[in-house]
Amino acid sequence: MRDIQHFVNAAAAAGRSGRFGEVFDPNTGEVQARVALASVEDVDLAVQAAAQAQPRWAAVNPQRRARVMFEYKRLVEARLEELANLLSSEHGKVVADSKGDFQRGLEVIEFACGIPHAMKGEYTEGAGPGIDVYSLRQPLGVVAGITPFNFPAMIPMWMFGVAIAVGNTFILKPSEKDPSVPVRLAELFAEAGANLGMDLKGVLNVVHGDKTAVDAILDHPAIQAVSFVGSSDIAQYVYSRGTANGKRVQAMGGAKNHGLILPDADLDQAVKDIVGAAYGSAGERCMALPVAVPVGRKTAEAFREKMIAEIETLRVGVSTDAAAQYGPVVSAAHRDKIAGYIKLGVEEGAELVVDGRDFRLQGFEKGFFIGPTLFDHVKPSMKTYQEEIFGPVLQMVRAETFEEALALPSQHQYGNGVAIFTRNGRAAREFASRVQVGMVGINVPIPVPVAYHSFGGWKRSAFGDANQHGMEGVRFYTKVKTVTARWPEGDVTDAAFHMPTMN
Ligand code: NAD
Repeated sequence: MRDIQHFVNAAAAAGRSGRFGEVFDPNTGEVQARVALASVEDVDLAVQAAAQAQPRWAAVNPQRRARVMFEYKRLVEARLEELANLLSSEHGKVVADSKGDFQRGLEVIEFACGIPHAMKGEYTEGAGPGIDVYSLRQPLGVVAGITPFNFPAMIPMWMFGVAIAVGNTFILKPSEKDPSVPVRLAELFAEAGANLGMDLKGVLNVVHGDKTAVDAILDHPAIQAVSFVGSSDIAQYVYSRGTANGKRVQAMGGAKNHGLILPDADLDQAVKDIVGAAYGSAGERCMALPVAVPVGRKTAEAFREKMIAEIETLRVGVSTDAAAQYGPVVSAAHRDKIAGYIKLGVEEGAELVVDGRDFRLQGFEKGFFIGPTLFDHVKPSMKTYQEEIFGPVLQMVRAETFEEALALPSQHQYGNGVAIFTRNGRAAREFASRVQVGMVGINVPIPVPVAYHSFGGWKRSAFGDANQHGMEGVRFYTKVKTVTARWPEGDVTDAAFHMPTMN
């Protein structure tokens, strides 16, 4: 059986814990590899490597650091096919979605190619008589990222792309469910440096693991900042423990994104968009759209009818099936959890219109598949509405008025993304202004901001006050130093001015 090891100082590291996790192929349901689970000592060794490398890396001028990012982008793109297949084989998403996972991550690397510009400070001439003031952005030192299973390429790149470009060194603790791609990302980063004649040992390190590794990161005194993305309870835990230890922490959590369909929407387009956003990647996206809110009975009836027809055309297949819209979910436990929510939805009194629980793929009966599922007449009081399901389940919550519809995402515990489908600019503007959610799409079902803007939700979807990537990322991974300078007056030919002495 293949062993997936840590990656420290630009080399594979076996780890000393003797503990391993199982890595599955979600298509077949079989274990395909073992991943090393770090001990406190394993984390410490990686932090030592990062700490040793950091001053040297921070001293590399920003345009040379940017050149590493250019080369890195080239290397990842050149291997996209191989990398996307590797990602799909552990995650289960179809290969086209895996390519998107890399593409969106590479956009952050592109942003990082412009880091010299983003790092420029500010300068005030003559803030007082003969006094100038300027501010600098300096890296924090060693920083860490803890990432979820659902975007094993994009989310690590959101974090280390910016963190490393500004001069930090990085410890990545990826999800133990699909750990191979993060290691390949770190190997290619070391290769990018080598191609430019630079030794990047210790700049980007990967330690795999579970709670033990996460706690070791949160408690390590040499780690200055932690970025986390995952489910909300763990995000809150990471935020509390990390900040209690004096670290800077940004911790993104779960989601329950709503899509409002106003009576004047282009319904055919909205249905197509919502099918992709609800069922794509088996619903395992924090920006998926699992709640549809049609406004008015006529809209609801028409939406439901078109949605049922569209679901019938969906093809669920193995992740290498180029014609499939989505593949298996990540694990048997997750499939069972989703099926449990479907059962609960029925018990709570929602109408189960399409039931995906009996879906079986011939030849892959042990794969972690679940068919597209649709509920209607879901009520805000239901647990299945209040919680994140994170599977291919779309819930219709009918609203009578715009105000009623606007209140649903605004009052929900999560506030990651939201979308509105309408032709009415005024309604869309009002909605975008008033809705209590961090990322808003207007006729855009999955409003993930481009890399030079920033990503972040509100309420229980994010703890801490800094978003991911863009200038928010630059600010999160740097500290500001402000210098106030006054130069002595007098004749510059004066010897004492040239070289001050004790006299
Ligand atoms: P998860 O919370 O189970 O795991 C995330 C990370 O935390 C992993 O690295 C994992 O090893 C670690 N972890 C797990 N249990 C832990 C514990 N008890 N103590 C300390 N660390 C622990 O999340 P997941 O299942 O990998 O990912 C899916 C979740 O991530 C969903 O809730 C989804 O909405 C969310 N997500 C959010 C965003 C966002 O930007 N808001 C993006 C992607 C995914």
